[in-house]
Amino acid sequence: MSRPFFCFGVCNMIRALIGLLIAAIAAAFIRAVIGMITKEVTQMVNPDAAGGQAKPGPAGPGGPAGAAGPTPTALKKCPVCGTYVPAAQLIGGRFCSEVCSTKAS
Ligand SMILES: [Zn+2]
Repeated sequence: MSRPFFCFGVCNMIRALIGLLIAAIAAAFIRAVIGMITKEVTQMVNPDAAGGQAKPGPAGPGGPAGAAGPTPTALKKCPVCGTYVPAAQLIGGRFCSEVCSTKAS
């Protein structure tokens, strides 16, 4: 293996630079691949989270009841037993059931 006589320190420097460049490219490539895989896995595991912003879900903008966030129906706590009941179902405006209403009075 012959090398030009003028190539002493320069070749090593260029080799080091090329090595750094390859390392940087490899790192960027690996990062891109990992990002792609992560995105695909996330879409596979939870398709709603990935495509939720692009298209509205079948349940509508509000989403299914019971999900995270404020529910349209306000829940009231029964002062007797501590059960949370939708305000529309309260007995006497305060209690979860007739039993609790009777107990309180
Ligand atoms: Zn109650």
